[in-house]
Amino acid sequence: MSGATRARTSQAPSAHAQRMPWPARLAGAALLVACAPATPAPRANTAPLPIASDAAAESLLVDVQALEPSIRVRARYAGRDNFTGAPLPGYEADRALLRREAATALARVQRRLAADGLGLLVWDGYRPVRATLAMVRWTEETGRASLVRDGYIASRSRHNLGLAVDLTLVTLATGAELDMGTPFDTFDAAAHTANAAGTVRVNRTRLVRAMEAEGFRNYDQEWWHFSYDVPDARPFDRPIVPR
Ligand SMILES: [Zn+2]
Repeated sequence: MSGATRARTSQAPSAHAQRMPWPARLAGAALLVACAPATPAPRANTAPLPIASDAAAESLLVDVQALEPSIRVRARYAGRDNFTGAPLPGYEADRALLRREAATALARVQRRLAADGLGLLVWDGYRPVRATLAMVRWTEETGRASLVRDGYIASRSRHNLGLAVDLTLVTLATGAELDMGTPFDTFDAAAHTANAAGTVRVNRTRLVRAMEAEGFRNYDQEWWHFSYDVPDARPFDRPIVPR
């Protein structure tokens, strides 16, 4: 990390909040309203935090393929191949970004797996707040608000922090996906990591062990979702644009 980057990242969140343009402040307020709890907040949600500036996003988020080109990426929310059937706002490129600390750890996972001829295929990393708001809106418009209540869609996601990644295992040479039992974004108990037997159980365990060895934690309701901790986590809303 350069000295200039370190200086920028040491700014307090309140400094970013004061510099936020009005639309970002309104989005932040909407998130706070969304979490005002008539029902207990789903445990998938993060704490409510002010949205950090686009400048902070630019200095803190990195492209995982820039760090490790052999990681495969298919950004599902940048196209139509996702549960909403349409690209989500803020996804303007087939890329996966993460906080540098998490991307560096992910590169180590990839190198660890390569010894066994395996690799990672990433479906989602950093997610702009506007995309999360669109997901929640989709659940309301389609009568599936239970997906938020049941913890399958977070109204304040660790993806917004650049600290969550959705991925699977592939054969390194061919990119063929290993059998994990369900497709990505299966919103039911079949996707719960421990709910598997035979080869599927072996494959899920292999993914979890490789990720845990480098500091990631699996979300037990989604075999594909892993999170990473940093001390100064903050949500971003900068769109993901082509390199
Ligand atoms: Zn996820």
